[in-house]
Amino acid sequence: MLMQSALPLGELENATEFLPRHIGIDAADEAHMLSVIGETSRRALIESIVPRSIARSTAMDLPLPITEAAALAELKAIASENQVLKSFIGQGYYGTHTPGVILRNILENPAWYTAYTPYQAEISQGRMEALVNFQTMACDLTGMPIANASMLDEATAAAEAMTLAKRSVKSKSNVFVVAGDAHPQTIEVIQTRAKPLGIDVVLAHSAAEWDAALNGEYFAVLAQYPATSGRIDDLRADVERAHAKQAAFIAAADLLALTLITPPGEWGADIVVGTTQRFGMPMGAGGPHAAYMACRDEFKRSMPGRLVGVSMDVHGKPAYRLALQTREQHIRREKATSNICTAQVLPAVIASMYAVYHGPQGLKRVAQRVASYTAILAKGLTQLGAPVRPQACFDTLSLKTDDATKSIANRAVSMGANLRIYFENYLCISLDETTTRADIELLWKVFAKDGQQHPTFDAFEKGVEPLIPAELRRTSSYLTHPVFNTHHSETAMLRYIRQLSDKDLALDRSMIPLGSCTMKLNATSEMIPITWPEFANVHPFAPADQLLGYQELDEQLRAWLCQATGYAGISLQPNAGSQGEYAGLLAIKAYHEAQGHGHRNICLIPSSAHGTNPASAQMAGMQVVVTACDANGNVDMADLQAKCEQHSANLAAVMITYPSTHGVFETQVKELCALVHQHGGRVYVDGANMNALVGVAAPGEFGGDVSHLNLHKTFCIPHGGGGPGVGPVCVVADLVPYLPGHATAGVPGGVGAVSAAPLGNAAVLPISWMYCRMMGAEGLQAATETAILSANYISARLKDHYPTLYASEGKDGKPGHVAHECILDLRQLKDTSGVMAEDVAKRLIDYGFHAPTLSFPVPNTLMVEPTESETLFEIDRFIDAMIAIREEIRQIENGAWPQDNNPLKNAPHTAESLLGTEWARPYAREAAAYPVAALRSNKYWSPVGRVDNVWGDRNLSCSCIPVSDYA
Ligand SMILES: *Cc1c(COP(=O)(O)O)cnc(C)c1O
Repeated sequence: MLMQSALPLGELENATEFLPRHIGIDAADEAHMLSVIGETSRRALIESIVPRSIARSTAMDLPLPITEAAALAELKAIASENQVLKSFIGQGYYGTHTPGVILRNILENPAWYTAYTPYQAEISQGRMEALVNFQTMACDLTGMPIANASMLDEATAAAEAMTLAKRSVKSKSNVFVVAGDAHPQTIEVIQTRAKPLGIDVVLAHSAAEWDAALNGEYFAVLAQYPATSGRIDDLRADVERAHAKQAAFIAAADLLALTLITPPGEWGADIVVGTTQRFGMPMGAGGPHAAYMACRDEFKRSMPGRLVGVSMDVHGKPAYRLALQTREQHIRREKATSNICTAQVLPAVIASMYAVYHGPQGLKRVAQRVASYTAILAKGLTQLGAPVRPQACFDTLSLKTDDATKSIANRAVSMGANLRIYFENYLCISLDETTTRADIELLWKVFAKDGQQHPTFDAFEKGVEPLIPAELRRTSSYLTHPVFNTHHSETAMLRYIRQLSDKDLALDRSMIPLGSCTMKLNATSEMIPITWPEFANVHPFAPADQLLGYQELDEQLRAWLCQATGYAGISLQPNAGSQGEYAGLLAIKAYHEAQGHGHRNICLIPSSAHGTNPASAQMAGMQVVVTACDANGNVDMADLQAKCEQHSANLAAVMITYPSTHGVFETQVKELCALVHQHGGRVYVDGANMNALVGVAAPGEFGGDVSHLNLHKTFCIPHGGGGPGVGPVCVVADLVPYLPGHATAGVPGGVGAVSAAPLGNAAVLPISWMYCRMMGAEGLQAATETAILSANYISARLKDHYPTLYASEGKDGKPGHVAHECILDLRQLKDTSGVMAEDVAKRLIDYGFHAPTLSFPVPNTLMVEPTESETLFEIDRFIDAMIAIREEIRQIENGAWPQDNNPLKNAPHTAESLLGTEWARPYAREAAAYPVAALRSNKYWSPVGRVDNVWGDRNLSCSCIPVSDYA
């Protein structure tokens, strides 16, 4: 057969390229969209939007893009540079078996990982049920009355516990006592956090120092339980001493140990924090994992992070929603209790499901095996003459190995095992769920002298009593709720997981048009590497030469992100945008101090800023001064100038978002940066909106000194229902010395550690690496330009229905274009129809959509960001839904439907409410359920009606619903 006219090889090879998979708009779509907007080309559109003064001087210098298969192969080669040894390091990170049913149906399932933070309660009931299970699990295991829905990692949770205690106790002392045998990374993060707040951290290394510290004045104490060296202490008397000083007692506790040892809640602790990593989340070189925080009831209203509460819907059915402090950084801003926004929802869901899967008996069995193996290991080592320290312990032995420490550790490595070197003279060995009999024999072999016969496991077949003394054993029950005692067969577990995800709307069902949150494609090829054992099963504190793959990943990704941002240095350590902000402000602070300008502490923040900005400034010890925005939504330059002059001597920084949170490219940004610099301040550019900039303009070039990126927005890490995130902090050259370091991991650095692990949420970095590698410089720029095109298309098509609030100045003084998102103004509808933006948001659920961003940054508006990944079909479907809803509003305006009884006020409509015999509504059931015909073949049913927030906050309940309430 004759070959059809052969295409050039290059074109054939491009047939598998990634770009058209990522970008939902093709050339024909683009031409159509441009004609609607009234522009001739994408380039012309961009040039009319992005101020000429900030356009990039050069294109990004990135490797040429490669196909999905080729990128996976290249990354696999990098991954293979990691060495996966058996880890006995412990120190907060343990081997764990992710149950297959959870691995495949949650961690690798877009129905879970592409969901957004559950701000829209009705479409988030599934993941909120999982989070309530998480909260219940943390409460039960710690013995505390209330727990939140996840913290970023154990170390930052401990730092947050410190500030929670500071806010909550009567003691006026500034001293925070920390047991020296807490995990070193926890101590380090606490020290970083304490410094700008003026808190004095006193480390108590010996029993004598601990005793002396507890006799002094302090507002809180923190102890690790069991200690990092494995020892379990009876802390009852210490708690009483703290309470006598009006101080709080904080325990950092291991959840698996708590199934066997007396939980802190039973010996009087006030706050309990810890990681849930060993409940099914791979070590992943340090993250992502969910930490937990539980506290006494009196502290709940000032607890950081998110809390899921039980409320009810309009029909009186139990329903979940985020409670109390949900978005409190947005409300209390610089007075917020913490800056946490994105947390660790997906890892929290996995940990909760691990508890559901195993149940209390299963967890106890896992723990008992670990404890028994530890006792057997100790016995065998003692027989061998190894210097095992006698101590009460659960899973960790410590040995005083003195001069032999290094050589034994090296010998272990040569035999495939990592032990932990502790204070140079000690070795620690931690066991976990994955430890086998063969592992224990291997450990004996490591310690056996030449020619010395080591014991065999069989000799201990009858079992050995765990090393937990009777008075420290747990007697109380836990996880008694049916959810933890029902789904133990894999069939039941599979269906429970499916039942929950079916309740939720995630990106796998429809567009999530969230302004400021960039819900773009999370491509499967980007996700695949994160569970490769070479990335998933390595310990963050393994010897550096075993982590060369991560080192290369880190170096390459940082170089590429430097290209994208125009900055000189980047740290990937912060594990959310908020943490990047905090790290960036610490860098600015440290810089000023180094210049002898430690008094510079004023941070100017425009009123339109995201709530994390003022909250982070407060954490960095800065004083927030709010500056005004003008009628067009831009930073009010006159006000900014006045405040710069007023605070000139003490100006530390200005924090702006670019393009602004109003969705506009402000033309004066260069002048703004220059002004701030003239007054000796540094410019922080919040990079959450980088999806409008990559390849087009670089903050490091146009005057920014520091930015954070949100890899979980712009660089494709999925939102996970509210985390994990990665918030790299990027700086210009003279601030590079002040990026975070990590002494525990041997990484020197300016401001200390801001996360528990040196690479933060390391295990999700392959996602952003894959994205950049498959897109290349031109592809990333095309993504930016297409995102801007799509936003302008939506704004143009909706302009007669919902005017866009802010746009740049167009030709001849007419309104011009928006950036990558647009704010739809719904404020006038209140007067004409009583309809609020929230009603439109809820009505969109009936149309099968997740709502846009509601009332941020302007109350009673919707902010829409389509991203480059949505197809024209889906964008039009959304626009058509918005137009149809506008027609419904017209029915209210012209009196056909009452203002308080119409499809918007009653949205979302559940199937149950439509199927009742009663139907006392002025509109037909069909109009409620199928307002547009396409819904008849593809319909999402909201599992609950509109959720009552106020009722839930008044009747706060944050653990699993008692079964009787379902009756
Ligand atoms: C999302 C966002 C943040 C915070 O990022 P997190 O990862 O949620 O902490 C900060 N600023 C802006 C403008 C954002 O959109």
